[in-house]
Amino acid sequence: MRVAIGGISHETNIFSPVKTPLSAWRILQNQELIDVSKGKKTNIGGILEIAEAENWQIVPTLYAGTTPSAPTDQAAYATLKQKLLGKLAKEEVDAVILCMHGAMMAEGVDDPEGDLVTEIRRLIGNKPLIVTLDLHGNNTEQMALSCDAIFGFDTNPHIDSYERALEAARCLASVFNQGVIPVTAFQRVKMLPPTINMRTAEGPMLELFELARQWEKRSGMINVSVFGGFPFCDVNYAGFNVIATADGDRLLAQKACDDICQRAWQIREQFLKELPQVEAALDLAEQALSENPTKPIILADVADNPGGGGSGDTTELLAAMIERNLVGSAAALIWDPESVDQAFQVGVGNRAIFKIGGKAEPKYGQPIEVEAKVKSLSDGEFIATGPMSRGNTMNIGLAARLEIGNVQVLLSQRRTACNDADIYRNLGIQPAQQRLLLVKSRGHFRASFEPLASKIIEVDAPGAANPNLHRFEYKNIDYWPLNKA
Ligand SMILES: [Zn+2]
Repeated sequence: MRVAIGGISHETNIFSPVKTPLSAWRILQNQELIDVSKGKKTNIGGILEIAEAENWQIVPTLYAGTTPSAPTDQAAYATLKQKLLGKLAKEEVDAVILCMHGAMMAEGVDDPEGDLVTEIRRLIGNKPLIVTLDLHGNNTEQMALSCDAIFGFDTNPHIDSYERALEAARCLASVFNQGVIPVTAFQRVKMLPPTINMRTAEGPMLELFELARQWEKRSGMINVSVFGGFPFCDVNYAGFNVIATADGDRLLAQKACDDICQRAWQIREQFLKELPQVEAALDLAEQALSENPTKPIILADVADNPGGGGSGDTTELLAAMIERNLVGSAAALIWDPESVDQAFQVGVGNRAIFKIGGKAEPKYGQPIEVEAKVKSLSDGEFIATGPMSRGNTMNIGLAARLEIGNVQVLLSQRRTACNDADIYRNLGIQPAQQRLLLVKSRGHFRASFEPLASKIIEVDAPGAANPNLHRFEYKNIDYWPLNKA
């Protein structure tokens, strides 16, 4: 069997000040896609593993991904799409498996995933088309029903992209070997939950995933995927949705979708969470530190999570932390190529005036002008051992650590969410030995940092990924919670 693989994956934040030109995309094509992914615990790596066991011949098309940011430009999307479809059009294949996100937008194309699978369906006729998606997908009925089977992540933090890809590929094997005929069903609810309380280990998503697992026990059910949606896409279908896949029984799949959506609506208020603003959050941190915890307190700068489209360089929380100057404070990871360059010129052990952060979008905070000592420099490439990184190499670009009073500030050339504690270690900071850590991340940091921390304080500070959705101006969405007073 000849199985094509590929995908275009982006979580788009229309409020993000960071643009997404073609040059921002990491593109893997042809043999390189296989070489890079083979043996890795990633989504494509998972497909390759099953392909080898099943003796499939893999036809690599294009896999393109980039860090969350503003909608990619029209020409960039057209180029990526053309490369993927162009390769597919030239090949005779028996099936296609794609790894995508579900919350992508391009300029002029609101639903690129739907656009892509529709075109692929046109090319391959009724041959199997199977897709893996992120839990934050704003999926559409068109996209869901154009596919034979869909497998969304079951975990948040997302630590199961490899496992879901194994499932997707095994599903294809069951089509080839056992004559299984997967069909999908879709339902959505008009609700736009913020992502702040979407972890799968607790809260409303725990309950909704348990319901999904109950439905998966029904005979004939293949998969039930729950999607919390991504609120920073201003499209009138963004938000909570469910896609189920069953063996030949669309009605069964539909019942599962409808049931979970109904329950999600009933418990929607659980998705909301009021967070302390900057000074109040620091007061809470100081209070917690006064109780002499044995582990550090974490301040999560959730609104500036690069993993949700934040610029990674907002300054309000960082400035307040520098102002308080508490012993044992450290902050990561500030996206600031200019200051990193400057730190390399200044050299380790020397001092200079820096203008830290605040460069992408001044309305989210001005640069912090301050004298700092360069404490360490790094090429930014290291093995990241956290549960999400799973021993893969991380590359944050050239990186620097500055010391400002009692505060260590970590800067990088590549915009990267601080989801792995090895980001700190790479620049010589043992995170467990600090007292107060700022992390620019919304939730994925928890997999790596939660075991190190005595307390996590999520902060309502300015940024493109603020969970307080009332801070943004939506043009196309008027439903819950935006219509709440
Ligand atoms: Zn996600």
